[in-house]
Amino acid sequence: MQRYHTPLDLVRERSPERPVALARPDAVAVAARWFQDNFKGDVFYAVKANPSPWVIETLVANGVTSFDVASVPEIELVSQFAPGARMAFMHPVKSRRAIAQAYFDHGVKTFALDTHEELAKLIEATNGAKDLNLIVRLGVQADGAAYSLSGKFGVDAHQAPGLLLAARRATQELMGVSFHVGSQCMRPTAFQAALAQASRALVRAGVLADVVDVGGGFPSVYPGMVPPQLGDYLDSIDRGFAEMMVHETTELWCEPGRALVAEASSILTKVELKKGDALYLNDGSYGSLFDAAHTKWPFPVKLIRGEDGEAKEVEGNLKPFRFYGPTCDSLDHMPGPFWLPEDVSEGDYVEIGMLGAYGVAMNTRFNGFGDAETVAVEDAPMASMYGLARRSIPVPKAETQNVVRLSRARSKKRRRK
Ligand SMILES: *Cc1c(COP(=O)(O)O)cnc(C)c1O
Repeated sequence: MQRYHTPLDLVRERSPERPVALARPDAVAVAARWFQDNFKGDVFYAVKANPSPWVIETLVANGVTSFDVASVPEIELVSQFAPGARMAFMHPVKSRRAIAQAYFDHGVKTFALDTHEELAKLIEATNGAKDLNLIVRLGVQADGAAYSLSGKFGVDAHQAPGLLLAARRATQELMGVSFHVGSQCMRPTAFQAALAQASRALVRAGVLADVVDVGGGFPSVYPGMVPPQLGDYLDSIDRGFAEMMVHETTELWCEPGRALVAEASSILTKVELKKGDALYLNDGSYGSLFDAAHTKWPFPVKLIRGEDGEAKEVEGNLKPFRFYGPTCDSLDHMPGPFWLPEDVSEGDYVEIGMLGAYGVAMNTRFNGFGDAETVAVEDAPMASMYGLARRSIPVPKAETQNVVRLSRARSKKRRRK
């Protein structure tokens, strides 16, 4: 990966024609260390949020050596870039072939399930293995998340006790519970509430869990979507866990995706045309901007103007703009509003921030576009949950006031396995 001090240096040096993904490994390092220092248990990175090799390598270098994977290609990726790492196959629906490959070829022992059918599949596909860690995914009632993840997976409260009991009987190793409160969860108490639901299911089943996995959902910060401090989420988990009946060695796990990587990538796009309040960019919903198009997610932007070896960041009178991507599909539209200086024009560059999670990972080649290169930069992300932001997000005042700062260091881990 080529390295530049800042995006301005990149524009100054070679005014890129194609979109460029800007990688900030330092931001991943800070987030990884924060979770390692503050979460009182084991941190599994949810690979789907951003499967870039540099992300995996940076996480490992900063102590996150466990991975939540959902497919064989993700397992192969982690094996390649984090040899020897611990993996948990947390997709509740897997093919028999994927289970066998994970177990026999890659030594994966931990699997999620939410039905008796999947439990039978796991046992059969591993030739009756006795050393599986079986994690029952519960459907939890959680509000406060921008993306619900409970519609598709998770056993309901009525069926959970029977499945927990069956999983307990099927393994001599670890039996656990997991859930997902929904991605970009804006309410810390959602975790305590979900843990209470898990606790009730375990009590009704009459079993103790060896693993309590609180999943992902830890938020990042976007214009108009400024969550409470991350420390509040861990406090809520501590309270919920403390109220559960567990044994001495019960392990607490989490599976953050977004919170570890959201800050760490942005995309540098070029304005191909300006038509009123619409800017036609060389990246769009089939590239890194899926969420900006399909859930109208707000992302911070800044304007960079470069000519003849010069480049500068342009500020000035901000106006709301919307974006079109480069494909011919009219769905390739990002309504924003994105606040940019009113004199933005063809040939300018727009850096779109906070695309490290579910952004650069979503790129397709539809219509001949999407061929973005990746370079590393050293400047701070546009916004941060960890006190790193290089400046306030360029949107109207009311929405920028409480950019979250790093919470005070919390007490050390209960235990390290
Ligand atoms: C997507 C996913 C995660 C990560 O969720 P974030 O909201 O990005 O933290 C964690 N666990 C499972 C099972 C997932 O599907």
